[in-house]
Amino acid sequence: MLILLATMNENKVDEIKKIVPEIPFKKISDFSDEWDVEEDGVSFEENATKKAVVSGNYFGFYTVADDSGLEIKALDGFPGVRSSRFMAEGNFVDKMTALLMKMKGYETDEERYAQFRTVVCFYDPLENKRILVEGIVKGTLSKEIRGEGGFGYDPIFIPEGFEKTFGELPETVKNTFSHRARAFAELKERLKKEGYLK
Ligand code: IMP
Repeated sequence: MLILLATMNENKVDEIKKIVPEIPFKKISDFSDEWDVEEDGVSFEENATKKAVVSGNYFGFYTVADDSGLEIKALDGFPGVRSSRFMAEGNFVDKMTALLMKMKGYETDEERYAQFRTVVCFYDPLENKRILVEGIVKGTLSKEIRGEGGFGYDPIFIPEGFEKTFGELPETVKNTFSHRARAFAELKERLKKEGYLK
């Protein structure tokens, strides 16, 4: 049995393989050098489903795709579903600096509340069956960029119960309770229940 992981983001592939080594994922880059499904949906659910269904129908395998992002309460959930499109020409230091600028004047942990959210879609192209699961990790935005670990917005996100950012915490810690860890733990249970995994 093989499940295709429909993302070209190597950071995500690495993270997911460490989170659920027991799920037999194959990377999309093992089959194709260029694969891009436009993320033009208005929600994580829509984008994850579109990526899983388009890729699953094209390659013909069971397929899993995730769509994720950072939701900042004081900014009405921004960048949210636009997390990757926001300042698309800039690097992550530029993006994080811009978000920290927007957060000037918000001082307390409550005012700086943020969460990472991941929606994962499993798609079975033969049965046209979809399974959607979600994972959330709550926290606050740091006041400066801290740490070299992780990827994306990790260096400005402090998960609840910690003082360090995801960029400073060891990946083994992030991978036990991150939004992605929670979503993939639930996916594993659902795949077992539906008979796709032993
Ligand atoms: P997408 O799910 O590939 O569309 O990613 C959305 C954006 O959120 C990208 O810019 C990612 O780098 C960022 N992102 C997704 N997951 C994480 C994470 O675990 N930590 C930090 N940034 C993330």
